[in-house]
Amino acid sequence: MNNRKKYIIAGPCALESREQLRESVQALKPYATYIRASLWKPRTRPGWEGYGKEGIKILLEETIPHQLIPATELMMPEHAEDVVHELNKFGTSVKMFLWIGARNQNHIIIHEIAKILADSKHDILLMIKNQPWPDPYHWIGLVQHVAHAGFPKEKILLCHRGFYPYSTIPNPDKFRNIPDFELVMDVRNQIEKDLGVAMPVIIDPSHIGGSPENVKKAVSIMVDQNYPFDGLIVEVHPDREKAKTDATQQLYTEEFIEVFRTL
Ligand code: PEP
Ligand code: MN
Repeated sequence: MNNRKKYIIAGPCALESREQLRESVQALKPYATYIRASLWKPRTRPGWEGYGKEGIKILLEETIPHQLIPATELMMPEHAEDVVHELNKFGTSVKMFLWIGARNQNHIIIHEIAKILADSKHDILLMIKNQPWPDPYHWIGLVQHVAHAGFPKEKILLCHRGFYPYSTIPNPDKFRNIPDFELVMDVRNQIEKDLGVAMPVIIDPSHIGGSPENVKKAVSIMVDQNYPFDGLIVEVHPDREKAKTDATQQLYTEEFIEVFRTL
């Protein structure tokens, strides 16, 4: 793996309005190539579940004209169909970045999502986040399911967002989720052996850190240890106190720029 940070994905945890996304794009476009904004939110407790399908159009319209690549999470096969339907309106030269989240790990659903995306013939990157518990085989298996569904292996990325902080694992910094970089390397190497592709590794310091201070700390640990990652996915909100999801961990733009400069 090289040390070029090729993938910088930034933006709000969730799309909340066209104005919020527009403001985010203006602030982030000098730094990020990919703009994230989730449309369907996995929630720990019942609550607001995201802007939904109507947001796809907003996400595409507010990013593509700025030569930015839209990025969002898919939870269900219908979401994949809806995204492909909107992408079709933009033609086949448009790129999209999609991901499978930590809390959506059913292989039947994921297989269907991957198949819909593969059949669409759009230029799509698909990132697979690790599940919340530290089991390399589950994560490797998910990647295999995606490849088995016909999704191109060269377009799959791995994302480490840490593992649930069981009380038996030391957590001196009180991270929301604990990173295990060695496990990530083992997963990546095993996949390379099985599938013949060295997949890029993206780090999600937002869900590792859980607070702006710890997001910065997570990045600085990786940079100091010269950890070979290929990119970052960072939650950045223009007004985090008012965020509808993950209000405690999103960075302000200035904080994100500070992090960006350390890379
Ligand atoms: C997210 O990226 O907003 C998210 C829900 O993360 P995770 O799937 O890692 O919990
Ligand atoms: Mn989030």
